[in-house]
Amino acid sequence: MQKPWTLPPCGQGGRRIQLPYVNRFETIWEYKEAFFSDPIDFLAYIGPACPICGDRDCYQEIDPYWRYAIDLFPEFKKEQVPIARFLCQKHRSTFSLLPIQLIPYFQYTVNAVIGTLFLGVSCWRMGQTGFCGAEVSVEPESNVTAWLIFCWLMAVVTGLRRGHAELMLFYDLSRIQTSETGVPWQEFSDYFVVFGIDTETTRRSRLPILLYRYSQRTKLFLFGTPSQYRSGRA
Ligand SMILES: [Zn+2]
Repeated sequence: MQKPWTLPPCGQGGRRIQLPYVNRFETIWEYKEAFFSDPIDFLAYIGPACPICGDRDCYQEIDPYWRYAIDLFPEFKKEQVPIARFLCQKHRSTFSLLPIQLIPYFQYTVNAVIGTLFLGVSCWRMGQTGFCGAEVSVEPESNVTAWLIFCWLMAVVTGLRRGHAELMLFYDLSRIQTSETGVPWQEFSDYFVVFGIDTETTRRSRLPILLYRYSQRTKLFLFGTPSQYRSGRA
């Protein structure tokens, strides 16, 4: 039986570990700006112990990789952003620090996803399914489809349910009904009412706080599933 840390070497086909980079930047673009201009001290963030094997003086920083990030609010913006990467020398596996403004395996930022779901939920309140209404409301260049929005809703509701117990430390979730048979739009809406996020303005100011609180406490991503928790092997 292989131990979970017995990972293939980094590089093509190698397994990567994605850890959240918990930060207080309001947008992914602020993070990108700081990455080079005001260099972020990732070593201080990680601390002396290697997050993979626990040894001191093990991990070393390697070249960052670039991935696309897409935001839709306040306007469509698609740019590559650098992601800090490190090597656990003991196990020859890499880990990266994905800023919490992003979701593992999603190109769209949390802000883009939640903002689009807000458009969807208002269509749903008017008696529509919500998915097509949101699709036509976002920037056409973004290629967001009704199907993608459906997947986003499921990913967000799944994340909220998974994080429910921890989120209760910060928010009064006592009136939220979570159930597999519930209506996802309703559940999404109920959570965000409690978070005090109901407009573009409150989303801009409070969504970063929500993400920060959750990831700071749990060292996990609120939404999405990082590579190490995915069952499929490359
Ligand atoms: Zn290590």
